[in-house]
Amino acid sequence: MEVRSSPVHGTGVFATGFIAAGTPIGCYTGRRYGPREQQARDWNNELTYIFGLSDGSVINGAEGGNATRHINHSCKPNCVAYEIESEDGSLHIEIEAAVRIRAGQELFLDYRLDAGGGQGGYVCRCGAPGCRGTMLGSSGN
Ligand SMILES: [Zn+2]
Repeated sequence: MEVRSSPVHGTGVFATGFIAAGTPIGCYTGRRYGPREQQARDWNNELTYIFGLSDGSVINGAEGGNATRHINHSCKPNCVAYEIESEDGSLHIEIEAAVRIRAGQELFLDYRLDAGGGQGGYVCRCGAPGCRGTMLGSSGN
């Protein structure tokens, strides 16, 4: 994989070779914020690098994250992120290829961001058929 500028948004992650479906791409890393901690913080435009976990905490890839934080959003992504629980009970985000990806293709995830009610600034321009027009998840969650 390589990180370079993306035609979709800012910086993107691109496959340098063929990636078979189901291949692990990496673990989404960064600074952790607990449920209360993350609600107390004003994220503003940093939301792009926030990955929410089911326990209400978030991982901020902008702080100490790896290359996976540059994976752009698409409503029809070629990668999938799933949560795994380690033996100590902590949650992690693993990213893997959802379909086979050819060399040179950009990697995408559906982030379904939760902006806490604010809708501005997260317009999706992925151009996929069925694009929701927003990087946010369905409202009401
Ligand atoms: Zn879209």
